This record gives sequence, structure tokens and C-alpha cells, in this order.
Amino acid sequence: MPDDLPLAQGRIPNDLDSFWMPFTSAEMFKENPRLIAGAQGVHYTTVDGHRLIDGTGGLWCCNAGHNHPGITAAIQKQAATLDFAHAFGQGHPIAFEAAARVVDLAPGFDHVFFTNSGSEAVDTALKIALAYHHARGEGQRRMLVGREKAYHGINFGGLSVGGLGLNKGQFGTLYPSVAHLRHTSLPENVNSRGLPQHGAALADDLQRLCNLHGGHTIAACIVEPISGAGGVYPPPVGYLQRLREICDTHGILLIFDEVISGFGRMGTPFAYEAFGVMPDLVTCAKGMTNATVPMGGVLATAAVRDAFRDGPKAMPDLFHGYTYSGHPLASAACIATLDAYRDGKIFENAATMAGPWEDMLHSLTDLPAVMDVRNCGIIGAVHLHAEGDVGTAGRAAYAGLWDAGVIVRPVGDALCMSPPLTITQEVVDEIGARLRAQLSG
Ligand code: PMP
Repeated sequence: MPDDLPLAQGRIPNDLDSFWMPFTSAEMFKENPRLIAGAQGVHYTTVDGHRLIDGTGGLWCCNAGHNHPGITAAIQKQAATLDFAHAFGQGHPIAFEAAARVVDLAPGFDHVFFTNSGSEAVDTALKIALAYHHARGEGQRRMLVGREKAYHGINFGGLSVGGLGLNKGQFGTLYPSVAHLRHTSLPENVNSRGLPQHGAALADDLQRLCNLHGGHTIAACIVEPISGAGGVYPPPVGYLQRLREICDTHGILLIFDEVISGFGRMGTPFAYEAFGVMPDLVTCAKGMTNATVPMGGVLATAAVRDAFRDGPKAMPDLFHGYTYSGHPLASAACIATLDAYRDGKIFENAATMAGPWEDMLHSLTDLPAVMDVRNCGIIGAVHLHAEGDVGTAGRAAYAGLWDAGVIVRPVGDALCMSPPLTITQEVVDEIGARLRAQLSG
């Protein structure tokens, strides 16, 4: 699709205070408000006409590139046809069509529960896990297991199983029965190409938790197959397989949080295929609609779904749902997005570009500022040596790269990247050149 169209410009709003911004220091933002006004393909333009490569694909979500004409047209058409109808005991065809398309893309999964975000998908998956065991007469399974450094969104369940201390600090203990596996960031895995070789045995933390609490008390174990927003940590070879084995031994549901890795980022529709491990539930969002209309979902296997079929006929089988579950606009955006992925061979492009992407990132390891490079599929992080407080080097590099025309996402001192899956060699080279210039300075 053409990426050379004129990009919109805008103006700086007079009021920068009414919008309480997510995960933002308002004071720092106001000092230098970075405001995006237009987008096309892999590029953004700011209100003052500065053109940037979107190295973060929105926020790990615009997999087909920005302003895809087919997706835009589908949303416009749907808005003029059926703006909204709920799906509580009634329905509308397009949500069923979207669900069928999503599960078609996900071998082994037969059902999807629609949400409006990744955070809602995570909380929905955790609730499905609890209710699944309850339905099977195993209501004693109440413990949820997460992992250090994990990001599972910001709702109560996701924050509870999440593993980023800063996100938890203001809120105290949330869900009362959680335990965490250790993270898999090991010094011996620095600058790994391909998956890290060390750390599969860290999955045995789950066995230790079973020994300690009783495997029969654990409902679910949730991990991002490749951790993203915590700083990009690909799974050590064999790690996910080992988690699967332990879950099978103890009847624990394995949930993969694929809010980032879903919809092609690993070159396959979902990462569970790329890693060859079948979870029981998968959460997804972001790339589901190319981020155009908020939508998330939980994929469930027939085995999980069937546990809910034995209740009284007149009662809901799951006491859970959102006003906007399967929203017509989101459903239309989802179908058009899946068409765009298929017709544009976008996952195939991700698979092809994963090698050049890895080569570019690892070409930076000679720079003294670079401590570690991590990558997998079309995700990567260039982790800088700290300068003073954690985050100082990351923030400075982010600001410099913005001015140089590339957006990255600093997580502490790790510069995380997840560009649209439509990237070409030229774009990869451009990102590489700008990173090198910035980090050599
Ligand atoms: N899970 C994962 C793995 C994520 O990366 C994110 C968002 N980055 C979420 C859940 C939460 O998604 P949302 O921001 O749409 O609520």
C-alpha cells in the first residue's frame, strides 16, 4: 500500500491538562508535548509536520501499518449500517462472522469471547479459568500463577498476576491468591540470537509452587509466550514446553497472553504455533483490529468451553460479559483486518523480515552504550547501560530518536520496538542507521 501520501498536520491544543494521560508524567509531557496528527503505512507525522518511522507499531498493535484503506472503509460502512447492538441473549451477525474468522486463524481453538482491550481479555481469561474448575467440581482451585516482569494489563486480575513492581506499588495486594514464577532474564543469555539457550529449568518454579501449595489448588498459570512490555524477553528454548508438562501433570490451565504476540508478530498467526506449545486459553487484542477500534478476545479450546455446557438451560453459561463484547464496529474492523493480513501476505512478510530485523538489531552490539539486544519475530529491544537512575538513558535515547525520526518505547533503559509487520529492508536499515547515530553520540 502507498506510503507516500501527504500526512495530516494539526495544532497543539490549548488545554493539555484535562486529559489525564495513561502511564504519563504530565509535567514532563507538558515540557515538550509530542503530538501525533497523522499516519500512513509505517509513518507518523506530528502536529508540526515532523515525519517519524513508527518503530512501535502504535503500541505493539498496528500490524498492517496505519490507515489501511480496506479497514477504514469497512469501519465507515459498518458505522452507517448497524452502529450498535448488544449480544446479551440476542446478537448481530457480524460478531459471529468475526469470531469464526478469528478461530479459523487459531488451530486448536474453537471459541472466542470478545472483550474491548487486552486488560479485559486477561481478566476474562482468569475468570474463565476459575469458572472452568468450578464447573468441574474443583472449586478449590483458586490460586493464579503469573511471572516476574510480566505485563498483563492493568485491571485487577492482570495486575495481580503481573510482575512489574512499579505498576503494583500504588494499589497493594489485589487478588488474594497469587504466586509468581521467576523471570527468565539471565546474564548468560545476553545478545542471544534466536531464542535464549539458558533458563528452561526456571519453568520448574511452577512445580515448586505445586509442591508448596498443592497442585490441586492452582487454577491457571499465565505467561506471555514472549514477554513484551516488561522489556522484551523471548522464552528460553524448552521453557514453554516444560510449563505445559507441569500444567498437564497437575490439571492447571495454561494461558498464553498473546496481546502483543498474536496476529502475526512471530510470523505465524499466534506465537503458540511458532513455539510449538498448545495453551488452553489465549488472550489477544491489539492486532485483532489493527488497533483501529478497541477489541480483545479470549480464545478457548473445545475442552474448556464444553465444561460450561452442563448447567441449567435458561441460565447464562458464564456470568460475564461487556456491553461492547463483539461490538459491530470492532467486528467489522476485525474482519477487514484479517482480510488485510491475508491479502497483503503480512504475516509472511513478518516471517521474511525477522532475519533482517535480527541482523540489524545485533549489528548494534558493538556500541559501548548497548548492554544487551533481545529479539524474536518482529519484536526487539536494545537495552542500554544505565546512566545514573534506571530509565535516564532510555528516556534520553527515546527523545533523541524522536527528533531523529524514529519512535521507540523506552522500558527502563530498554528501547523496545515492534514496527508494523509491513516493514521493508529499507525501513529496517533506516531504523538501524538512526539507532546507531543516536547511540554512538
Ligand atoms: N497483555 C499484554 C501482554 C500486553 O502487552 C498488554 C498491553 N501492552 C495488555 C495485556 C493490556 O492490553 P490493553 O492495554 O489493551 O488493556
